[in-house]
Amino acid sequence: MNVAELSGVPEWLPEHLHERGVESLYPPQAEAVAAGVTEGESLVASVPTASGKTLVAELAMLASIARGGTALYVVPLRALAGEKRAAFEEYEEHGLSIGVSTGNYESEERWLASCDVIVATSEKVDSLVRNGAPWIDELSCVVADEIHLVDDAGRGPTLEVTLAKLRQCNPGLQVVALSATIGNPELLAEWLDGALVDSDWRPIELKRGVHYGQALHLEDGSQRALPTGDGERPTAAIVRDTLADEGSTLVFVNSRRNAEAAAKRLGGTVEEFLTSEERRRLADVAAEIRDVSDTETSEDLAAAVEQGAAFHHAGLASDHRALVEDAFRERRLKTVCATPTLAAGVNTPSRRVIVRDWRRYSGDVGGMQPLSTLEVHQMCGRAGRPGLDPYGEALLLASSHDELDELFERYIWTEPEPVRSKLAAEPALRTHVLATVASGFADSRSSLLEFLDRTLYAVQTTEAGRLERVTDDVLDYLAANEFLERDGEELQATALGHTVSRLYLDPMSAAEIIDGLRAATERPSPLGLYHLVSRTPDMYELYLRSGDREEYTMLAYEREEEFLGAMPSEFEDERFEDWLSALKTARLLEDWAEEVDEDRITDRYGVGPGDVRGKVDTAEWLLGAAERLAGELDVEWAPAVREARKRVEYGVRAELMDLTGVRGVGRKRARRLFGAGIETRAELRDAEKGVVLAALRGRRKTAENVLENAGREDASMAGVEPDTAAAAAAGVGGWRGGSGADGGDGSDGATGGDADTEDQSNLGEF
Ligand code: ADP
Repeated sequence: MNVAELSGVPEWLPEHLHERGVESLYPPQAEAVAAGVTEGESLVASVPTASGKTLVAELAMLASIARGGTALYVVPLRALAGEKRAAFEEYEEHGLSIGVSTGNYESEERWLASCDVIVATSEKVDSLVRNGAPWIDELSCVVADEIHLVDDAGRGPTLEVTLAKLRQCNPGLQVVALSATIGNPELLAEWLDGALVDSDWRPIELKRGVHYGQALHLEDGSQRALPTGDGERPTAAIVRDTLADEGSTLVFVNSRRNAEAAAKRLGGTVEEFLTSEERRRLADVAAEIRDVSDTETSEDLAAAVEQGAAFHHAGLASDHRALVEDAFRERRLKTVCATPTLAAGVNTPSRRVIVRDWRRYSGDVGGMQPLSTLEVHQMCGRAGRPGLDPYGEALLLASSHDELDELFERYIWTEPEPVRSKLAAEPALRTHVLATVASGFADSRSSLLEFLDRTLYAVQTTEAGRLERVTDDVLDYLAANEFLERDGEELQATALGHTVSRLYLDPMSAAEIIDGLRAATERPSPLGLYHLVSRTPDMYELYLRSGDREEYTMLAYEREEEFLGAMPSEFEDERFEDWLSALKTARLLEDWAEEVDEDRITDRYGVGPGDVRGKVDTAEWLLGAAERLAGELDVEWAPAVREARKRVEYGVRAELMDLTGVRGVGRKRARRLFGAGIETRAELRDAEKGVVLAALRGRRKTAENVLENAGREDASMAGVEPDTAAAAAAGVGGWRGGSGADGGDGSDGATGGDADTEDQSNLGEF
């Protein structure tokens, strides 16, 4: 179907698509149009990766807007919100406004009401519904991207319940659900009352196969020699073979450490193929990477990139990830070794994909587990760049004949698994039942059950009565903790319950925090508070490594009186272990708030800079919630909680809190100013310019900005000489003279790196 024949869409669209290189619709897109996607019909599109699902969504949204409506695009990861925003921004020239909702939880973001397209994560939409954002009722079209993630135990239930709520408050709502190919797309269509487009069409041929011995065994039954050199690993041999044909390779491995090690090794293979021009361009990327932060991870990444290979995982700062993705798309980088985070949506096609590891460690099982067929298919789907490659090739690796057979059986001949709702798990229901009652979607047990009947779980379950049983258990729990009141059939959220729901806390986290605050008999220490929030289910655990148990057991006894609430006995194995791993997180936060260098922290705790950021952000949110709860409960510790929160927010000791409140003054600059005798914002405003300049290492531009932000009227540094005596007092020898550009100090910003919610999620645990 030619795009000029589309009806119901804005008249500028065909021309616009034409400019983008889209002349005619791909077959699944044409099927979606035939099913009425531009006329407001709901639809589930189960289509392989990279086969143009986004355009199906765009057609639905634009047609809906043309009819006077508003569209919401729900993404599973915050990183994808940015990518989609960039994609939709091109509609702004045609008068549409695009908004991304990335604000904190517990805000209504009224400005979004004026947008035509709103992009947000499902958690964010859930929180907007809880806070009664008024524009929610006016949506006409909702797109749910990567709907197969309803199967994810961590975030699936939120997506599921959020869609059910949106549909309840907008009876005529069009829902367009985009899915990877899954085993049971009919069921999703039944749940959402939509038409189904179920297709395995791809814009570029995909050949899948297994490398075994010295050959590729492809799914069409053919074999091709691909010998490994003496002592050469298969991955390196395949990368070399692809490079000889000027292609790029994406390698999926099962852990961050493996991604880093593989990138380092493959750098040696790739480097030989680089021209001097390519080396120069890679050196530019490496320099940008080093500018993001001065951690060891940053250095390792830059070093690998110089050789034309990179790694990509959730432990990286998001700026690092974006640099790697861009350089790979621009073909500067020849190889990227990634954990599965890269398979989840980011658009980085490659000539060849290697799924090197098909098992990964699972904490739940306590051992290695095979990846699902769905996941492997999504990774394979990244192979082949339309318009650039003749075809894509996706390869698994076998080291024995049996493994060759097993891989074919498991991943090549087999259809992806069906998705299954995870809503009936207690933690998920606990949160969503409270939110559903608090935000007025149900006011009695029966209306609650009626609401839950609109979820995928209800459509899917064959186990009569299970949902009802778990719901009753959850209602008991919520009532016992005074988040809900029950009066016969009637349900009502208490004031505390409303607060908990708005703060977006798991009720169990709230209960833990409340008990801890009530148990404190004297002003709690920061470590005590960090430990309290670290042991809630909303904080992802840091695992204990070998040797950690002893170290943290000792620490636990040393600092026992700081804990809020009683420490479990060493003989309560599991509880004690959890206590220790919370202590590990708490000490990481304490180190951060004691101004320990980011680099030392990543080293000491065996984590990436992205993880430090993730922990800090989560702690900040939970402590903010704790402060609110302390206020509400009339517990006297709110000021102590606020101080602990601010310290973790800025990563500073108490004496620097005032200075770090000034925009542009991060933990390091604050420490230098303090060392030079400038201890408060007021002192900074009136300080000698020469002293400020010296403390800020002679960087004039920085000094001017900082002074201006502190409220100084004339902040100009023209003609000011750094006062070196003050510099010496500040212990800052290496200031730069002149008007110094402000480079190379990236870790000094008020918030350090950057992180995504995904770092705290199941998805980000790779
Ligand atoms: P998916 O969401 O299914 O993984 P995308 O929507 O990201 O895939 O599409 C993959 C690529 O195909 C994008 O670069 C997109 O611009 C391009 N594309 C989509 N539809 C068409 C079309 N009808 N003609 C040409 N290119 C298309």
